[in-house]
Amino acid sequence: MTNSLLSAEKVHGGYGRIGVLRGVDIAVNPGEVVALFGPNGAGKTTTLLTLAGLLPTTSGSIAWKGSTKSTAAHKRARQGLMLVPERSVFRQMTVESNLRLGKGDPEAAVEHFPELKPLMRRRAGLLSGGEQQMLTVGRALSTQPSLLLIDELSLGLAPVIVNRLLEAVRAAADSGVGVLLVEQQVERAMTIIDRGYVMVRGEVALEGTREVLHQNRHLVQSSYLA
Ligand code: ATP
Repeated sequence: MTNSLLSAEKVHGGYGRIGVLRGVDIAVNPGEVVALFGPNGAGKTTTLLTLAGLLPTTSGSIAWKGSTKSTAAHKRARQGLMLVPERSVFRQMTVESNLRLGKGDPEAAVEHFPELKPLMRRRAGLLSGGEQQMLTVGRALSTQPSLLLIDELSLGLAPVIVNRLLEAVRAAADSGVGVLLVEQQVERAMTIIDRGYVMVRGEVALEGTREVLHQNRHLVQSSYLA
């Protein structure tokens, strides 16, 4: 995929001597939501950290915006690659201060999540889990990223909030952002994704469009028992 924002080819990597990724091929194009499914310990977070440049590869290549040159994580971030860990807020700071961090823009965040507007002066640590996740995703979107790598969007959140977050992610992709989304709630994620990968034990075991994954949903579900 030559037009990919980010593509990984045969990537091996992990934590020092502990190998986790075993020849991972993944690509994300502008304007699409790509899911990364798989059981606990499959290597999904490790994949995101490696793609973001926070963990080294031991072999294989990662092309970011057409260049395979190894780029430091902070440079990739400046070039629009946003890693979005679950509920990454500074709890002692207000919502507004959280939104001003880095290239964040409170007004732009409120356009994505109007729910944040009345909460601006509240300390982030006092927000509900769902509000914290809206703050996290809203801040990431307000930086006008090219690519979002989102880890565990829905962990522990009520269905109505999960739908709200997924809807915002879909809208961002429709305006051109590429999204790689690690998500445990497969059925819910299926409603907004374009394509997806299923990882098992550090390898991509299955990949395809939403339709293909839907047709093979028993395989996707059974991978969680792997
Ligand atoms: P989950 O859905 O449970 O978050 P995951 O698919 O994201 O799982 P990873 O967190 O990428 O999986 O973990 C993959 C493997 O790497 C696991 O065996 C885990 O124990 C190991 N691992 C994770 N972090 C480290 C670390 N800092 N040092 C050593 N091994 C680690």
